[in-house]
Order: sequence, then structure tokens, then C-alpha cells
Amino acid sequence: MMVGNCKSSKKAINSLIIVLLWILFSNAQSQENWRTCVIVIDGDTIVLDGNEIVRLIGIDTPETKDPRKPVQYYGREAYEFTKRLVEGKKVRLAYDLDKKDKYGRTLAYVYLEDGTFLNAEVIKQGYGFAYRYFLFKYFDEFKQYEREARENEIGLWSDGGGEKSQTAQKNESNIVYITRTGKKYHKEGCSYLRGSKIHISLEEACKRRYAPCSRCDPPECKMSIRD
Ligand SMILES: [Zn+2]
Repeated sequence: MMVGNCKSSKKAINSLIIVLLWILFSNAQSQENWRTCVIVIDGDTIVLDGNEIVRLIGIDTPETKDPRKPVQYYGREAYEFTKRLVEGKKVRLAYDLDKKDKYGRTLAYVYLEDGTFLNAEVIKQGYGFAYRYFLFKYFDEFKQYEREARENEIGLWSDGGGEKSQTAQKNESNIVYITRTGKKYHKEGCSYLRGSKIHISLEEACKRRYAPCSRCDPPECKMSIRD
């Protein structure tokens, strides 16, 4: 009888310990997963606690902060939109194939506590474009959200604005240059281009496995390439 009691209370203590450990572990996990967005840099780039810069995967918003470029059409509005949604709030990250870009920024899908999927929301509300050049998990969904925003003429798509920003976007990122012999692609005007420049779409350059030039810093092939 005594032996039996002792055994079963040992069992009970063991399961209690397991339960406690499990609670501790899952608490630690959820605390680790929730972060705070301390500041928004622009429509598609935010900073989390600990100074972690996060570039939202699969979207492009008009430029506001690049000192080399003028503020693009709807850039200010895109910045304000993302700021309103996420600054000072708790967020959770999810990742795709690459966790970092070449600037050391984290590449992530960002979710808010109320379930809002920030990357998708920016496109749905017409504050940015679906990233077209490389494949990522929500490639088809994001393209569809962009199409809907355009058809409903909301955000940057209102007042014929879509054309303005699309043209800017195309000039900005779609065309790059290669040389006859080189294995790198360049921006217009790069001193490495010299006489033999051939223009090509960024998508094509990435498909052909050209590498971005380190001198002129053209837009990069961020995601895995659709073969
Ligand atoms: Zn170059």
C-alpha cells in the first residue's frame, strides 16, 4: 500500500513537472515571437525592437527615403499607411526562403495581433505593388490583391495615379543593363558599362543568373527565381 502510494505520487509529481516545463517553454516561445515595431521607415520597411530592420516580402511601395531618388508618387501616403497600421504595435514575423537581403535586413511577412497580414494589407489598400520579379509564397495572392485594388481604383490607383506610379516603378526597377561579356547587370549610367550596354529586364537578368554590380547597386534578385 505504502509502496503503491509513493509510486503514484512520484508519477503525479513527474507529470506536474512536465506540465510546468511545457507552460514555461510555450510562454518563453510566445514572448519571443511577439516583437514591437518601434518605427516605420517607409511603406515596405520597418524597424523592430533591438534595431532589427525588416523589409516586407513580396511588396514594393513608392520610394520616400532613398536620398539618391526623389520622393515617388504616393510614397508619402504609403509611408503614412504602414506607420498608422504598425508603428508602436506588437508584430509577429514569418519567413520565406531567404531570411536576410544583401543589406542585412530581415525579409519577413509581418502579422499584427489582430491577425492583420501587413504585407497583404498594403497591396489590398492600394499603397504598393506586388513584387513581380521573383517567386515567393504569396506570389499569386499578392498579384490578385493588386489587380483588385487597381480595378477598384483605390489608393495609388485612384485618379489615374496607377499609370503615374507604374511608369515610375518601371523606370525605377524593371530595366537593367548588361555588357556583351560581363556576368553582372547594371543601372543606366554605371561606369562599368562603357560602350557595349544592352538593356534587359531585371527579371531576365536574374533568370540568366547575372549578379548585381557592386558599384552602381541595381535592384537585386531577392527571392528564389522561377525557373
Ligand atoms: Zn554597375
